[in-house]
Amino acid sequence: MSESELTVEKIREDHINHRLGPYIGWNKVNRAQVWQWCAAMGDTNPLYLENDEVIAPPTMLQMWTMRDVRGNFPEGTVDKNVYEIMDKFGQIGYSATVATNYDQTYHSYLKEGDQVYSYHTIVDVTDKKSTGLGEGYFVTEHAQYYRSNDEIKDELFGEARISYFKYMPPEQTPGASSSGGGIKKIERIRPVENHDSKHFWQGLREGKLLIQQCSNCQVTRHPPQPMCEQCQSIEWNTIESKCEGTIYSYTVMHYPEIPPFDYPNAIVLVDLDEGVRIASQLTGTKPDDIVIGSRVKAKLVEVQDEMTLPVFEVIETEASS
Ligand code: ZN
Repeated sequence: MSESELTVEKIREDHINHRLGPYIGWNKVNRAQVWQWCAAMGDTNPLYLENDEVIAPPTMLQMWTMRDVRGNFPEGTVDKNVYEIMDKFGQIGYSATVATNYDQTYHSYLKEGDQVYSYHTIVDVTDKKSTGLGEGYFVTEHAQYYRSNDEIKDELFGEARISYFKYMPPEQTPGASSSGGGIKKIERIRPVENHDSKHFWQGLREGKLLIQQCSNCQVTRHPPQPMCEQCQSIEWNTIESKCEGTIYSYTVMHYPEIPPFDYPNAIVLVDLDEGVRIASQLTGTKPDDIVIGSRVKAKLVEVQDEMTLPVFEVIETEASS
């Protein structure tokens, strides 16, 4: 069948109520992965790791049957791409995806040594819907998670209903100038300006980077908060930053490319000389050349109408060792 014959009706026919599986987990439930999850999530529930028998947090449900980094499942897994329906929607122009709902149901706890495998069924594809993102189709998948061990065979221990919206993006290429008018330019999300944070955004519009300072103990703080962490005073004033500091850490965003940002997008945490840490963008330095400890200075740039942000540039690179 040629791609031009692919229709939503055909996609429905090929996928709805076609149960795919099993998708087998690479590793049996084990202490190392449970520990990593709990450490990453900050979950200190003693049930999981403080008894002889390791119990997995139920929210790890989906993790046990994930593909490896090359996209492969272990032997015994069905040779069917569970995401084929996504690709098909992409072929007929609905290439963008946003997850809209994810409900999990747990029937029993997973224990160390359990082998997990899952089955997946597309249960619904709606009629075409118009949303703020564009036109598209809501797709709902029902996933069933099973476990087996020395005593138990094929026990359904958890389920998930996952809905996502497959839609036609207004512009295929982020930042492309081929819009031809009519399509509203995608802007940065505007910050919430409230009683505690308005001074910061208003200050930037007036060309000043203002840092909150406790009127009682003079300790500076950022981001803005109603109360001083040191002395609990709610009295505060602001000081104007000289916009200079040191790179504490950074990350470089490569993918996904979300408009209206330019990529690669270097995000830095800067320790300002006034004693607070601020997150912002770094420009003028290639990602590979960014060095922690470098001195930076912010320019206040009006990135879009009524929105000014401090954007950092390196003024002195830390000698890398
Ligand atoms: Zn204070």
